[in-house]
Amino acid sequence: MGAPEGTDTLNELAFTLDHCEAHETAAEHPPVPEEVRSAIRTLLRWTGDNPDREGLRDTPSRVARAWKEYCSGYTENPGLHLRRTFSEVAGYDEVVLLKDIPFQSHCEHHLAPITGCASIAYLPRHRVVGISKLARVLHGFSRRLQIQERMTSEIAQCIWNALQPHGVAVVIEAQHGCMTGRGVRTPGVAMITSRMLGCFLDDASSRKEVLALMGRG
Ligand SMILES: [Zn+2]
Repeated sequence: MGAPEGTDTLNELAFTLDHCEAHETAAEHPPVPEEVRSAIRTLLRWTGDNPDREGLRDTPSRVARAWKEYCSGYTENPGLHLRRTFSEVAGYDEVVLLKDIPFQSHCEHHLAPITGCASIAYLPRHRVVGISKLARVLHGFSRRLQIQERMTSEIAQCIWNALQPHGVAVVIEAQHGCMTGRGVRTPGVAMITSRMLGCFLDDASSRKEVLALMGRG
Protein backbone atom coordinates (compact mmCIF):
# COMPACT_ATOMS: atom_id res chain seq x y z
CA MET A 1 0.00 0.00 0.00
CA GLY A 2 1.37 3.38 -0.98
CA ALA A 3 0.69 6.65 0.71
CA PRO A 4 -2.97 7.59 0.71
CA GLU A 5 -4.03 9.63 -2.25
CA GLY A 6 -3.62 13.34 -1.74
CA THR A 7 -0.79 13.07 0.79
CA ASP A 8 1.64 14.91 -1.48
CA THR A 9 -0.82 17.70 -1.94
CA LEU A 10 -1.34 17.89 1.82
CA ASN A 11 2.42 18.03 2.41
CA GLU A 12 2.74 20.77 -0.14
CA LEU A 13 -0.08 22.65 1.53
CA ALA A 14 1.55 22.25 4.95
CA PHE A 15 4.82 23.53 3.52
CA THR A 16 3.08 26.49 1.92
CA LEU A 17 1.31 27.33 5.18
CA ASP A 18 4.58 27.10 7.17
CA HIS A 19 6.28 29.24 4.59
CA CYS A 20 3.49 31.83 4.69
CA GLU A 21 3.60 31.95 8.47
CA ALA A 22 7.34 32.61 8.48
CA HIS A 23 6.87 35.26 5.84
CA GLU A 24 4.05 36.90 7.80
CA THR A 25 6.12 36.95 10.97
CA ALA A 26 8.67 39.14 9.27
CA ALA A 27 6.41 41.33 7.18
CA GLU A 28 3.20 41.75 9.16
CA HIS A 29 4.37 41.70 12.75
CA PRO A 30 5.58 45.17 13.53
CA PRO A 31 7.51 45.45 16.79
CA VAL A 32 5.33 46.01 19.86
CA PRO A 33 6.33 49.13 21.84
CA GLU A 34 7.91 48.39 25.22
CA GLU A 35 5.25 50.35 27.12
CA VAL A 36 2.53 48.13 25.64
CA ARG A 37 4.36 44.91 26.56
CA SER A 38 5.04 46.28 29.99
CA ALA A 39 1.34 47.08 30.54
CA ILE A 40 0.41 43.49 29.68
CA ARG A 41 3.12 42.15 32.01
CA THR A 42 1.63 44.29 34.77
CA LEU A 43 -1.82 42.84 34.06
CA LEU A 44 -0.43 39.28 34.13
CA ARG A 45 1.20 39.97 37.50
CA TRP A 46 -2.02 41.54 38.77
CA THR A 47 -3.97 38.36 37.94
CA GLY A 48 -1.62 36.42 40.23
CA ASP A 49 0.73 34.82 37.67
CA ASN A 50 4.42 35.30 37.05
CA PRO A 51 5.07 37.08 33.73
CA ASP A 52 8.67 35.81 33.74
CA ARG A 53 7.80 32.12 33.60
CA GLU A 54 8.59 30.46 30.29
CA GLY A 55 5.01 30.02 29.06
CA LEU A 56 4.24 33.71 29.51
CA ARG A 57 7.47 35.19 28.21
CA ASP A 58 6.19 36.01 24.72
CA THR A 59 2.60 36.50 25.80
CA PRO A 60 2.75 40.32 26.03
CA SER A 61 3.80 40.64 22.37
CA ARG A 62 1.22 38.08 21.26
CA VAL A 63 -1.56 39.75 23.24
CA ALA A 64 -0.64 43.16 21.86
CA ARG A 65 -0.76 41.91 18.25
CA ALA A 66 -3.98 40.02 18.88
CA TRP A 67 -5.59 43.21 20.17
CA LYS A 68 -4.46 45.14 17.10
CA GLU A 69 -6.26 42.49 15.06
CA TYR A 70 -9.40 42.46 17.25
CA CYS A 71 -9.54 46.23 16.85
CA SER A 72 -8.52 46.49 13.19
CA GLY A 73 -11.84 48.25 12.49
CA TYR A 74 -10.33 51.49 13.79
CA THR A 75 -8.13 51.69 10.71
CA GLU A 76 -11.02 51.52 8.25
CA ASN A 77 -14.11 53.46 7.29
CA PRO A 78 -16.79 50.75 6.93
CA GLY A 79 -18.88 52.99 4.67
CA LEU A 80 -16.21 52.82 1.97
CA HIS A 81 -17.18 49.18 1.32
CA LEU A 82 -20.50 50.47 -0.01
CA ARG A 83 -19.08 52.93 -2.53
CA ARG A 84 -19.36 50.55 -5.48
CA THR A 85 -23.02 49.98 -6.27
CA PHE A 86 -24.92 48.43 -9.18
CA SER A 87 -27.96 49.96 -10.79
CA GLU A 88 -28.63 47.06 -13.22
CA VAL A 89 -31.01 45.16 -11.00
CA ALA A 90 -33.53 44.10 -13.68
CA GLY A 91 -36.42 45.65 -11.83
CA TYR A 92 -35.64 43.85 -8.59
CA ASP A 93 -37.30 45.83 -5.84
CA GLU A 94 -37.61 43.38 -2.98
CA VAL A 95 -35.68 42.89 0.23
CA VAL A 96 -31.98 41.97 0.06
CA LEU A 97 -30.97 40.05 3.17
CA LEU A 98 -27.68 38.62 4.38
CA LYS A 99 -28.65 36.28 7.18
CA ASP A 100 -26.79 34.93 10.24
CA ILE A 101 -23.36 36.43 9.53
CA PRO A 102 -21.05 35.33 12.33
CA PHE A 103 -18.92 37.97 14.00
CA GLN A 104 -16.74 38.59 17.01
CA SER A 105 -16.37 41.84 18.86
CA HIS A 106 -15.23 42.99 22.31
CA CYS A 107 -17.21 44.86 24.91
CA GLU A 108 -15.86 48.25 25.82
CA HIS A 109 -16.62 47.75 29.51
CA HIS A 110 -14.63 44.56 30.18
CA LEU A 111 -12.73 43.92 26.91
CA ALA A 112 -14.53 40.57 26.97
CA PRO A 113 -15.52 38.81 23.73
CA ILE A 114 -18.94 39.34 22.18
CA THR A 115 -19.74 36.50 19.78
CA GLY A 116 -22.83 36.22 17.70
CA CYS A 117 -24.62 36.53 14.39
CA ALA A 118 -26.05 39.47 12.54
CA SER A 119 -28.77 39.61 9.91
CA ILE A 120 -28.64 42.68 7.70
CA ALA A 121 -31.35 43.63 5.22
CA TYR A 122 -32.23 46.57 3.04
CA LEU A 123 -34.92 47.42 0.55
CA PRO A 124 -33.09 49.00 -2.41
CA ARG A 125 -34.31 52.21 -3.96
CA HIS A 126 -32.33 52.16 -7.21
CA ARG A 127 -29.02 50.61 -6.34
CA VAL A 128 -27.71 47.41 -4.82
CA VAL A 129 -24.31 46.56 -3.43
CA GLY A 130 -22.23 43.35 -3.69
CA ILE A 131 -23.73 41.13 -1.01
CA SER A 132 -20.39 40.40 0.72
CA LYS A 133 -20.05 44.14 1.37
CA LEU A 134 -22.73 43.96 4.05
CA ALA A 135 -20.53 41.51 5.96
CA ARG A 136 -17.58 43.85 5.50
CA VAL A 137 -19.55 46.71 7.02
CA LEU A 138 -20.43 44.47 9.98
CA HIS A 139 -16.79 43.54 10.50
CA GLY A 140 -15.65 47.15 10.17
CA PHE A 141 -17.78 47.99 13.20
CA SER A 142 -17.40 44.73 15.14
CA ARG A 143 -13.60 44.92 15.07
CA ARG A 144 -13.67 47.76 17.57
CA LEU A 145 -14.55 48.02 21.24
CA GLN A 146 -18.30 48.00 21.29
CA ILE A 147 -21.59 47.77 23.03
CA GLN A 148 -24.06 45.71 21.03
CA GLU A 149 -26.74 48.41 20.94
CA ARG A 150 -24.42 51.00 19.37
CA MET A 151 -22.93 48.52 16.90
CA THR A 152 -26.43 47.58 15.70
CA SER A 153 -27.39 51.16 15.04
CA GLU A 154 -24.00 52.11 13.50
CA ILE A 155 -24.34 49.33 10.92
CA ALA A 156 -27.92 50.34 10.06
CA GLN A 157 -27.03 54.03 9.80
CA CYS A 158 -23.97 53.34 7.63
CA ILE A 159 -26.07 51.40 5.09
CA TRP A 160 -28.82 54.00 5.25
CA ASN A 161 -26.41 56.84 4.50
CA ALA A 162 -24.47 55.06 1.78
CA LEU A 163 -27.27 53.40 -0.23
CA GLN A 164 -30.22 55.67 0.57
CA PRO A 165 -32.54 52.66 0.37
CA HIS A 166 -36.25 52.52 1.25
CA GLY A 167 -35.41 50.73 4.47
CA VAL A 168 -32.69 49.05 6.53
CA ALA A 169 -33.12 46.32 9.14
CA VAL A 170 -30.34 44.98 11.35
CA VAL A 171 -30.87 42.29 13.98
CA ILE A 172 -27.97 41.06 16.10
CA GLU A 173 -27.97 38.14 18.51
CA ALA A 174 -24.86 37.70 20.63
CA GLN A 175 -23.40 36.26 23.78
CA HIS A 176 -21.28 38.44 26.00
CA GLY A 177 -18.19 36.97 27.66
CA CYS A 178 -18.52 39.49 30.48
CA MET A 179 -21.88 37.90 31.34
CA THR A 180 -21.22 34.23 30.57
CA GLY A 181 -17.72 33.99 32.09
CA ARG A 182 -17.90 36.42 35.00
CA GLY A 183 -20.43 38.44 36.98
CA VAL A 184 -23.75 36.61 36.89
CA ARG A 185 -22.15 33.70 34.92
CA THR A 186 -25.06 32.75 32.76
CA PRO A 187 -23.78 30.76 29.75
CA GLY A 188 -26.20 30.31 26.87
CA VAL A 189 -27.99 33.59 27.39
CA ALA A 190 -28.10 35.70 24.24
CA MET A 191 -28.85 39.37 23.83
CA ILE A 192 -30.88 40.50 20.82
CA THR A 193 -30.82 44.04 19.47
CA SER A 194 -32.45 45.47 16.38
CA ARG A 195 -32.43 48.70 14.45
CA MET A 196 -35.05 49.48 11.81
CA LEU A 197 -34.95 52.49 9.51
CA GLY A 198 -37.24 53.80 6.77
CA CYS A 199 -40.07 51.49 5.70
CA PHE A 200 -39.07 48.81 8.23
CA LEU A 201 -39.56 51.37 10.98
CA ASP A 202 -42.67 53.06 9.61
CA ASP A 203 -44.57 50.19 8.04
CA ALA A 204 -45.63 47.24 10.22
CA SER A 205 -46.15 44.84 7.30
CA SER A 206 -42.68 45.54 5.84
CA ARG A 207 -41.16 44.98 9.27
CA LYS A 208 -43.09 41.75 9.67
CA GLU A 209 -41.89 40.55 6.27
CA VAL A 210 -38.21 41.26 6.92
CA LEU A 211 -38.35 39.67 10.38
CA ALA A 212 -39.99 36.58 8.87
CA LEU A 213 -37.18 36.37 6.25
CA MET A 214 -34.67 36.60 9.09
CA GLY A 215 -36.42 33.68 10.78
CA ARG A 216 -37.68 35.92 13.54
CA GLY A 217 -41.28 36.27 12.44
ZN1 LIG B 1 -18.83 43.79 29.23
